Amino acid sequence: MKPKYIDHIGIAVKSLDESIPYYENLLGTKCYAIEEVKEQFVKTAFFLLGQTKIELLESTDPDGPIGNFIEKRGEGIHHLAFAVDSTDEALTEAKANGIALIDRRSRKGAERMNIGFLHPKSTHGILIEFCSK
Ligand code: ZN
Repeated sequence: MKPKYIDHIGIAVKSLDESIPYYENLLGTKCYAIEEVKEQFVKTAFFLLGQTKIELLESTDPDGPIGNFIEKRGEGIHHLAFAVDSTDEALTEAKANGIALIDRRSRKGAERMNIGFLHPKSTHGILIEFCSK
């Protein structure tokens, strides 16, 4: 199953309050949604550019994934998300092709998307997400 397009780019930030006005200014568009994803210990903010979104990620817990990422690497690109027709099928196919997974099955992410991550050890250092509606 081929990814169809880049659905979003996830960017880890220290503060949504500080980074939202910056991105609104840079992109010339308003943040259209802010959502907390409790299971992931993040608050997200979305901007739409064509069919691609920018997802800002602020940690709500220093021990959560974004808290850890910022602690180790500072702010920056956290993951790249490819739109697929079915996240579960894409994960199964990736596994069959020898790609290591973080998620064997999809789970619910922001915007009620079905999401699943590949393991960065298989993807040359970039955390890759599959997502579908
Ligand atoms: Zn994402």
